[in-house]
Order: sequence, then C-alpha cells, then structure tokens
Amino acid sequence: MIPNNPKELNYSKVKTYRDCPYLFKLKYIDGKREGLIPATSLGVSIHRTLEAYHAQSNDPSELLRYYNRFWLGAGYGSAGEQMEYYLKGKRMLEVYEQKEYSRDTTVDSTEREFIFEYEGWRFRGKIDRVDRLPDGSWEVIDYKTDAAMDENFDIKDSLQLGIYSIGARRAWNMQKGKATMYFVALDKKISADFSIFDEKFILDTFILAGQSIEAGEFEPDTRHCKYCLMNNRCPYSTEKGEDKK
Ligand code: SF4
Repeated sequence: MIPNNPKELNYSKVKTYRDCPYLFKLKYIDGKREGLIPATSLGVSIHRTLEAYHAQSNDPSELLRYYNRFWLGAGYGSAGEQMEYYLKGKRMLEVYEQKEYSRDTTVDSTEREFIFEYEGWRFRGKIDRVDRLPDGSWEVIDYKTDAAMDENFDIKDSLQLGIYSIGARRAWNMQKGKATMYFVALDKKISADFSIFDEKFILDTFILAGQSIEAGEFEPDTRHCKYCLMNNRCPYSTEKGEDKK
C-alpha cells in the first residue's frame, strides 16, 4: 500500500519505483532518507534561489543576492568542496541572469501544484515554473542542474514532462502550450508541445506502478545501484561505497 494516501501518484514516486521497487520501499514505506551529496545540495540551492527570485523580484541583478540568501551548506565534505560547488552555482546563475534581460515570457507562477483524478487514482505534481508566452500559450518548466545530459534523451519519452503537460491541461485547463526541461548548468532548453505526449500511455504507466505498489511488489532492481543514494545501506546493493559526486 502507498503510505499516507493509498491512491495518490506523483512523478517522484513513480520514477523511484521504476528505478528500483526496493528503493521505493526504503524511501516511502520504511521512511529512510537519502541525504544530500554535493550535486543534490547544489540543486536544492538553485531551485530555492530561482523560486524566490521569480516570486519576489523582476530585477535580474538581484539573482546572486537571492543565491547567497538561499544557499544550502549541507551535504559537503569540506569548506573547499562547498566553495567549489558554490562557484559552480554562481556561474550558472550569471548565465541565467543574462538570459533574464531578454526574456519575452511572463512568469505566471513558481512551484505551482496540480491535482487531477483519473480511473480512481489521484495524480499530483509540483512544477518549478509556469510562464505565459506572448501569443497567450503556456510553458511549464522543470529546472535541471545536472552537469551533463543523456545524449539519448528523447523528450517525448519523458514521463516527467508528460505528466506535467497532462496536469497543466487537466487541472489548469491550459490547452495550448509546451513543456520544457531547462538544463540550467548547460544553458540549454529542450521543449515539446503538450500534444506530443501520449496521454493514455503515460497515465497507464503511472497506474501500473501504483498497482504494483498496492500489491506489495518490492523486488530490488540492481541496475540502478551505481547511482542510488541508498547504496551504502541497502543489503542488495552491488555498488557499496560508490562515489556519486
Ligand atoms: S542499492 Fe540498488 S537494490 Fe538497493 S535500493 Fe538502491 S537501487 Fe535498489
């Protein structure tokens, strides 16, 4: 059974379950926390900074002030390592700032939550940023702070952008728009029209994961161990002690 709300699905739960069902059990049933490593800690700092900046300011020159205010110092092994990552984030935001001066969209909201129901399941998600374009259409944006992107990434296969597109249409009635993955560290955006995503396939994929969770199927899948933040504590791990920076 899914804890707290047995019939509620979100992208994080489904991704975790599809990566490794046992990891889902550790996180969502046993309540184990993954903890922070430098890359994830920097991601939190950048997300917090952009959320606060877009919610409270229209002045790009203030971005670094927000960064200093929302910097998270946890997850680093030394002061030197923390400084190394701080400077990485600063460089990302300096590029972001330059793009802000020529942005032609209007930021509608940040960290906006959608909820809708389908086939007896509740779908919930929170989107980093929603913009209104000059032609009146919408753009839902997810920030990524990874230093590299998968060369084989095909946006139409993205369950995350797919469920965000479906959420925007079903919960907010945004019929015309696009979903974007914004790789902030790479200064690169990848976008696709809402209509490109196969709605039935995506919803069925979510429900299939939900049904397996309800059935208590939590077999470990060791293909993900190398990248798993629980691999030091998991009895099935094939990659104990892996450095994941
Ligand atoms: S270490 Fe491997 S088997 Fe264990 S939870 Fe993580 S991915 Fe699953």
